Amino acid sequence: MAAARRVVIVGSGAAGLSAAVAAAAAGASVTVLEAANLLGGTTAFSGGGIWIPANRWGRAEGIDDSPEEALRYLTSLGLGDFDRDVADVFCRQAARVTECVEDKSPIRWNTIEGYPDYNAENEGGKPRGRTLEMDSAALGRDVLDRVRPDPFPGGIASRRENREGWDAREIARRRREGIEARGRGVVGGLFVAARELGVEIRTGVRVDKLLTSNDVVVGVSAGGNEMLGHVVLATGGFERSTALVNGFLRGPMTGPASAPTHVGDGLRMGMRVGAAIGNMTEAWWSPAMSIEGELIDGVQLYHQLMRDCAFPGGIVVDSRGQRFADETVNKSDLARTFHDFRADDYSFPRVPSYLICDAGRRASWNIGPLDPADPDPDWLFKAHTIEDLARAVGIPSAQLCTTVERYNSYSARGVDEEFGRGSTIFSKFQTAVADPREQLRPLNQPPFYAVRMVPGCLATKGGLRIDGYARVQRVDGSGPIPGLYAAGNASANPFGYAYPGGGGTIGPAMVFGWLAGEHAAV
Ligand SMILES: Cc1cc2nc3c(=O)[nH]c(=O)nc-3n(C[C@H](O)[C@H](O)[C@H](O)COP(=O)(O)OP(=O)(O)OC[C@H]3O[C@@H](n4cnc5c(N)ncnc54)[C@H](O)[C@@H]3O)c2cc1C
Repeated sequence: MAAARRVVIVGSGAAGLSAAVAAAAAGASVTVLEAANLLGGTTAFSGGGIWIPANRWGRAEGIDDSPEEALRYLTSLGLGDFDRDVADVFCRQAARVTECVEDKSPIRWNTIEGYPDYNAENEGGKPRGRTLEMDSAALGRDVLDRVRPDPFPGGIASRRENREGWDAREIARRRREGIEARGRGVVGGLFVAARELGVEIRTGVRVDKLLTSNDVVVGVSAGGNEMLGHVVLATGGFERSTALVNGFLRGPMTGPASAPTHVGDGLRMGMRVGAAIGNMTEAWWSPAMSIEGELIDGVQLYHQLMRDCAFPGGIVVDSRGQRFADETVNKSDLARTFHDFRADDYSFPRVPSYLICDAGRRASWNIGPLDPADPDPDWLFKAHTIEDLARAVGIPSAQLCTTVERYNSYSARGVDEEFGRGSTIFSKFQTAVADPREQLRPLNQPPFYAVRMVPGCLATKGGLRIDGYARVQRVDGSGPIPGLYAAGNASANPFGYAYPGGGGTIGPAMVFGWLAGEHAAV
């Protein structure tokens, strides 16, 4: 009998663990090497949503969808810079892979009710049905103790299961019994599947080199210890490397969401063996805020403000006190606008930017980690007039007063004459405010508040160029590097500019991780 193929997976997020499960299910002998002491990477503290077009859960809710429509939608967002062939494979394979994950693991998918594509009005866009998440599953404490804890707790139930909000006793019960959903649940569920299939998982092992023989990748080395096999690089993005961020991203990015292990190790290792790179200027952008002294694995933690800017009674202004966007667009497109450069004074006036809101907004919705019921913390600017708030923040007060007055006049007329705030399907969904007049609620209830925001990202999305089997391509265009695969944020995301909808990052990470595992195993 032939010996099983050996596959070495580097990284244990959605991409790495789905590659591990697929390769083991296909009969390979698989080892996962993870640099951190706990599993899961950024996936473990994510919302765990996956963007999967033409899936059966959406179909069951009456959504008519197809891979062709999904590709047309991605094309509409690509701005001419996306990998059509690889994106096409994603659109055709996504639903199958998602069903395979269900088949091999305790994960059970469902739609996030009513979740629209971010640009649902575009050709091929859908008003709901493509963003899935898992139902909570009893994974067990022994499993969850190996998964990175969520610095933003709340992932113990799916959005569907949690319509009524958190009940403290239920939270305690779920914690005790190891019931989890969202990002930690996805990692835990894939870990259960990997363990059952005999995958060896080692943590605290940072891979630093690819081993080659005659231009073929034959294994990895970690601190001099070698391990042979086909290699899947699933090391996440490079957002924690200042050198790579400055070297590649299209604009300033000083608020990365991830932990310190996300310094582009996979990218560097791939480049050293002659890999092509792509989509390097892009990231999954988000406005970010930080609180002094709040750390993740010893480095500054950044809160990504996913929808905080969108709620009624708040606006976003630059450091000159001017509004510059519809605050209700998705976080990635909002943060992308922070990169505006002014030639007249050689500055990025939107770095930092500020969320400005009134007491009504503060009392109704979270601001980052701050619950409406929490007392005002030090990091929140507060004043009884807009003028004093501007002084406290350090932005021109006359301009901020003019901006707020103008915005309040739009409220009175019921239309945002500058940016058309709140008019899209996604805007209405993310604020859960259907009435456009309510969406434009004025800022008129003192005290007023401000939060400093910098351009951040959930992760970068450029990396090693792959084909439809997730095989890493050679820089000279001569085809794949035998033995080397990449998936997730370690690879060049084929969507280019696009962040198509909720789950737009873990969806392709899981799908190409799976395809890499399947191909590497045979
Ligand atoms: C608050 C928040 C919410 C989010 N919500 C969502 C969501 O709902 N849906 C969505 O699609 N996206 C979401 N994201 C983004 C998403 O989490 C990431 O884009 C995705 O998880 C990346 O998956 P990955 O497998 O590529 O990498 P990761 O999950 O980051 O895993 C990479 C792993 O590789 C390890 N590693 C790195 N270098 C080495 C090395 N040299 N040797 C060994 N191991 C190494 C890292 O330690 C890490 O564990 C969210 C992000 C944040 C911060």
